[in-house]
Amino acid sequence: MNMSEPTQFTAQTLRGELSLDVDMRRHTSWRAGGVAKRMYQPADLADLQCFLQRLPLNEPLMAVGLGSNLLVRDGGYRGTVLLMLGALAELRMEGELIYVQAGVPGAKLARFAASNNLCGAEFFVGIPGTMGGMLAMNAGCYGSETWQKVERVQVLTRRGELLERAPQEYDIGYRHVALRDANEEFFVGAWLKLESGDVEVARQDIKALMEKRSASQPLQLPNSGSVFRNPEGMHAAKLIESCGLKGRTIGGAQVSEKHANFIVNIGEATATDIENLINEVQATVLQQTGVELHPEVKIMGEKK
Ligand SMILES: Cc1cc2nc3c(=O)[nH]c(=O)nc-3n(C[C@H](O)[C@H](O)[C@H](O)COP(=O)(O)OP(=O)(O)OC[C@H]3O[C@@H](n4cnc5c(N)ncnc54)[C@H](O)[C@@H]3O)c2cc1C
Repeated sequence: MNMSEPTQFTAQTLRGELSLDVDMRRHTSWRAGGVAKRMYQPADLADLQCFLQRLPLNEPLMAVGLGSNLLVRDGGYRGTVLLMLGALAELRMEGELIYVQAGVPGAKLARFAASNNLCGAEFFVGIPGTMGGMLAMNAGCYGSETWQKVERVQVLTRRGELLERAPQEYDIGYRHVALRDANEEFFVGAWLKLESGDVEVARQDIKALMEKRSASQPLQLPNSGSVFRNPEGMHAAKLIESCGLKGRTIGGAQVSEKHANFIVNIGEATATDIENLINEVQATVLQQTGVELHPEVKIMGEKK
């Protein structure tokens, strides 16, 4: 594949959409950051497989779902973004399991499970990510985590090979997932195992979760959820607040007054503003409490 003439290639052999110089502000919930050199939104799984089989092996690749845990630096991403949202969108029952593709948002999955009288997927409603991003992050809340529900996953390798893997093949922890033997792969689907339950109870739980979230999180401003992981036995938000950092602002980035582990974009924040604020919070908390905070958000791309 000639990456200098990708559009022509796409027109001839692929069914997805290839775009050049894509402003990643449109694809990240912080609404900040640089430009991705290329973005491919596949038509479906077979099309993504075809794209990967033809892509030069040295082309940097990054999967993106809803971009709700992602900061792309202002210098941009010099590679290809695989946009899963709106592309890998299949969601169906397969026997007693739910088959869900990587581009399906958590809220849609939670409602689908409830309407099939299955419970245990309610927490997905509060995570504004896709199945792929939730698998990659082992996203969770209120005591539940994504991988607790996974029977097996479907992945595409860098060379476009389609495989199924069991959870035992991964190192799975708090907001952490990695293959035991390192390999560049992307999640394209998963089979989830849930318990039978009462659809009405599940629907009420979903509603209650949504209300709880909007009461405690600054959802009216662009953000990326919790910026730092909670250190063992502690809350990152409490540590940040105890250091007097609520409201601390750099450029257009601000430590939220409502939830100290959120950084909000109060105007025209750049990725540099956000990253500088992350670094400052980290340094201040370390200096004042001796605790080292580790970012949960993924920071990609080049500095300007
Ligand atoms: C308001 C708000 C509330 C949030 N609350 C929570 C919460 O309660 N719990 C929680 O865990 N998180 C929470 N988050 C963070 C975020 O929603 C989750 O981490 C989510 O799983 C990210 O999914 P995404 O599709 O947006 O992934 P992206 O942000 O697009 O990507 C995140 C990472 O996953 C990788 N990735 C994405 N798709 C794939 C794929 N198909 N295969 C391989 N890698 C992939 C990306 O390359 C990147 O490294 C919140 C975020 C916001 C904005």
